[in-house]
Amino acid sequence: MARVFNWQINREMSYWYPESRPEKQFAAIFDTNKCISCQTCTLACKTTWTSGRGQEYMLWNNVETKPYGFYPLAWDMKLLDKLGPQTWSDDRYDGRTLFEAAEAGERVLGWRPEEIDYAHPNVGEDDCTGRVDGGAALDIPHANWFFYLARICNHCTYPGCLASCPRGSIYKRKEDGIVLVDQERCRGYQECVKGCPYKKIFFNPMTGTSEKCIACFPKFETGLQPQCFVNCIGKIRFAGTLSTPDKAREDNPIDYLVHVRKLALPLFPQWGLEPNVYYVPPIHVARPYLHQLFGPGVDASIEAYRNAPQDPDLAALLCLFGSTERVVPRWKRQGDVGIGMEEDGSEILRVPLREPTFVRAAFDKTHNIQRTNVP
Ligand code: SF4
Repeated sequence: MARVFNWQINREMSYWYPESRPEKQFAAIFDTNKCISCQTCTLACKTTWTSGRGQEYMLWNNVETKPYGFYPLAWDMKLLDKLGPQTWSDDRYDGRTLFEAAEAGERVLGWRPEEIDYAHPNVGEDDCTGRVDGGAALDIPHANWFFYLARICNHCTYPGCLASCPRGSIYKRKEDGIVLVDQERCRGYQECVKGCPYKKIFFNPMTGTSEKCIACFPKFETGLQPQCFVNCIGKIRFAGTLSTPDKAREDNPIDYLVHVRKLALPLFPQWGLEPNVYYVPPIHVARPYLHQLFGPGVDASIEAYRNAPQDPDLAALLCLFGSTERVVPRWKRQGDVGIGMEEDGSEILRVPLREPTFVRAAFDKTHNIQRTNVP
């Protein structure tokens, strides 16, 4: 085991290989407050990459309803239970990571789902934390809650799948940190399925190999965002690259939201993989639950998000989400306009912070009718 630094838990930890960061790291931000679980992302991915034989139960992208939705069944609860107490002192994680808690002879603490665990991807869909009596849903804020969690492979800095592969078939690309499976080397031992805590690598029984999200690298290489990003109806997603905290740039949109503003947080940072998909946490969900999911930065993130209407920089950047198929490596705000730019500063697009509002008169003189949808 090597000693490596994991900035998400603010300490050194043990990992199977020495620290070797890519030149650039593919990263993404999902705003959970905007997700409506329409599953357009899921289908965009499914029809692009996993419509073949042996891929029937394979969802490289899925959206599950928390707290009762899971794909595969109980993927997170089983591991949280196995890992035991997970305590933080401020922003430093004091508990054990999955690498540090590995059982004798194992490289990662993990478990392998049964085939049946993949059979119900919509289990718990729209299930609320408690009973909502007739009419109670109209009381805002609601006492009970649920929210939608969209998930893809996190293209982790310290991938559990890669660490656990006895064949060395999984690799992390030097140029963009995307994690891929070498289909020629893979022998289908499925140690990766056990070792990925997010359960985002899948065994294909027809090919006898493991397969996973490839971050649509043929698109990303040409400066385009992946399929699940550009098809997202709610415009919740933003793809780009992330620097380490010491090299964070304010004009890099992902750096700005992750490092500078600390608005976007990793999923289960305590597991130690340094995942590279970041979430803007839902503002209406019980805090202890969010602390377990996203770590100690939740309260400050929610406060900043709630304040976004009075924070033009934050508002401008959030308006750039889902606004173009192109990857936007740089950004700035000019007055009431957010501007997305290429690395060389050339402009990709402009998005206004505020859309004009038009109020339609209740009585339409032209057609001599009263509109029923206005008072
Ligand atoms: Fe590997 Fe899972 Fe991390 Fe993806 S999310 S890189 S499959 S450990």
